[in-house]
Amino acid sequence: MNTEFFAAWIDEIAATVRARRDHLTELDAAIGDADHGANLDRGFTAAREALAGASPPTPGALLVLVGSTLIRKVGGASGPLYGTAFREMGKAFGEAAEVSPAELSAALDAALSGVRRLGGAAEGDKTMVDALAPAARALAQAVRDGLKAEEALDAAAAAAGQGAEATIPLQARKGRASYLGPRSIGHEDPGAASTALVLGALKAAASR
Ligand code: ADP
Ligand code: MG
Repeated sequence: MNTEFFAAWIDEIAATVRARRDHLTELDAAIGDADHGANLDRGFTAAREALAGASPPTPGALLVLVGSTLIRKVGGASGPLYGTAFREMGKAFGEAAEVSPAELSAALDAALSGVRRLGGAAEGDKTMVDALAPAARALAQAVRDGLKAEEALDAAAAAAGQGAEATIPLQARKGRASYLGPRSIGHEDPGAASTALVLGALKAAASR
């Protein structure tokens, strides 16, 4: 997977987030402040524009630029968290011109560690970690099983989707939704839902 592949990923994310913007906003209206769709739409549109302007030479430079742009443009809780995730992935890639599924898996682990360090959320707290952690595990397993890149990304996307859905019966213990206590039960976490879109876009970029 080269720089072009990761640029395609960001394009896919921007398009999916735009298409699902209202849905993400509805999820955040139920247990937050109804800005998650708008936050991510603004952020990934800005990331796409930043890439068009700068043409970063490597996957690592590209993802670091995406992360920095998200931190600047998204705000709220999810901006720094998403920004950290992309920056950590980019840093894990270093100067490589091309990365393997195993390297992508290591980068996703680094993204997860960064999100956990910054936000302090564990799995089961009803946050984006509940989609990201199973996706990272599924990708690592797919790499161990020797699956082809496309199949490995398919497995990661499926795990993220299942993880997001599994947040519905949980009570939020982190972020704005935690203020609702038991009233946060029965709704999908918006950040977990958007994380599933981000991982789904990775799969879409691979099958382009
Ligand atoms: P805000 O909550 O500031 O309005 P957003 O609506 O954009 O920000 O994002 C909300 C999402 O951020 C939540 O659905 C959750 O997935 C994620 N989130 C919030 N706090 C944390 C945290 N401490 N760790 C991980 N994810 C978090
Ligand atoms: Mg919000």
